[in-house]
Amino acid sequence: MTPLTSQVRSAPPVGTAARLAAQLSGSGPELRPRAPFTLDVIARLPGSTAADVARAFERARAAQPDWAARPATHRARIAGRLHGLLLDRRHEALDLLQWETGKARLHAFDEVIDAAGVCRYYARRAPGLLAPRRRAGILPLLTSVRELRHPKGVVAVITPWNYPLSLTVTDVVPALLAGNAVVQKADTQTACTTLWAREQCVRAGLPAELWQIVVGEPAELGPALLTRANHLAFTGSTAAGRTLGGLAAERLIGCMLELGGKNPLLVLADADLDRAAAGAVRACFSSAGQLCMSAERILVDQRVHDRFVARFLGRVAALRLSAGFDFGADLGSLTSRRQLDRVHTHVTDALAQGARLLCGGRERPDIGPLFYEPTVLAGVTPEMAVHREETFGPVVCVRAFRDEEEAVALANDSPYGLNASVWSRSPARAHALGTRLRVGAVNVNEGFRAAYVSYDAPSGGRQESGIGHRHGATGLLQYTDCQVVARART
Ligand code: NAD
Repeated sequence: MTPLTSQVRSAPPVGTAARLAAQLSGSGPELRPRAPFTLDVIARLPGSTAADVARAFERARAAQPDWAARPATHRARIAGRLHGLLLDRRHEALDLLQWETGKARLHAFDEVIDAAGVCRYYARRAPGLLAPRRRAGILPLLTSVRELRHPKGVVAVITPWNYPLSLTVTDVVPALLAGNAVVQKADTQTACTTLWAREQCVRAGLPAELWQIVVGEPAELGPALLTRANHLAFTGSTAAGRTLGGLAAERLIGCMLELGGKNPLLVLADADLDRAAAGAVRACFSSAGQLCMSAERILVDQRVHDRFVARFLGRVAALRLSAGFDFGADLGSLTSRRQLDRVHTHVTDALAQGARLLCGGRERPDIGPLFYEPTVLAGVTPEMAVHREETFGPVVCVRAFRDEEEAVALANDSPYGLNASVWSRSPARAHALGTRLRVGAVNVNEGFRAAYVSYDAPSGGRQESGIGHRHGATGLLQYTDCQVVARART
């Protein structure tokens, strides 16, 4: 691993943060997120209370009927303009993302492109998807049946810190285009990036009241949001998803829960091993592994295990870690002390119980306070935490399998079901094996991006990785109530 010299800019963007924080109107205690690269305070945010959430809902609800009355094409044009602004002003987003998450600029860039791609997709497709549809009547000559889509009202969106721009845009934009208002609880750590996205959306023409943002104590704000919302879009851990899904169920409102994963990457005997090794590096270490679709388990056919592992370790060793604000780094920092502690705990627990360290396994305070080396473990057994639990960091476990039956059994040995990656020269074989995996997305000869950035296809988890889908028609129509009007012809 080659640490680049630290290129941290001397001062965090406090001026920008102050401008963005002026969009918040919380009456709770001030919140002070710190930059992962330096631990400097990046922003001073007015925290919100339950009463502030109630006021945010009042403002959003008052603005929503006018917005819903505008043509879908008008709303879609705003998403089209947002697409342009995200790309034109990408350097602002990249700086904020790096300051707030500590990720490498390359991974921040992926995030901007993803957010822009979602805007473009829905700008083009939303009006058609929301238009009334003719449905077959039981007596076609005698009845006319139309399916209509009405906005739900005010949608609660709760987003995590790991992809604050793309996850915000991905859920808020379709909710708005469907004619709703949104009250979003942003993560405190990445509130400025979220506020920046809102600023661009208002610049693109969105009436400001339609998108309210609050930050603060989850245990207080969660129930305050869920007692008022007409729908919930939540992205975060399975534990929090269970709590929030329970609150949604009590009120019988719909919810999309996009939760954790322990994603397998399978290398079959006929895989192109160089390509698989390069793809595995991207799949395991993008955003320092703080990505829900990250591969945390590599399963390799025993016939090619040693050759694959040698290639993979060679590439991991060449990764450049840096706190730089240029495109020179392959890997950035973890985002918080909590994440670093979790990674450290998983690795030390595994090693204490007999796992073998193939590379990494060390903090790197010489590069930045929250840096951790990309780490590869072997000999991991079911009783180790790293085997069962999502690490959400730059740690991957490698093991061999005998045959495809064992590969499928090992891959499916998880309560999660988010993403899988299968590497083979035979697309038919990879496809057949992929369909036996209990996951929401299978990427053949790719880590996670192929499925995820296909915006027309629904994206979501199975089992404990979640309920519902973002992207595609489902990702928009979930924010609507369906109504069927059937009329007897006279
Ligand atoms: P977390 O669940 O602790 O927090 C996520 C967000 O939800 C935070 O902003 C937090 O403040 C908020 N939150 C938590 N409990 C809440 C409550 N009761 N009421 C209101 N808000 C609440 O998760 P985390 O560990 O910070 O984030 C990482 C997790 O997110 C990982 O498990 C990762 O896999 C998951 N994730 C999933 C996807 C996906 O698309 N499936 C995408 C990104 C992250």
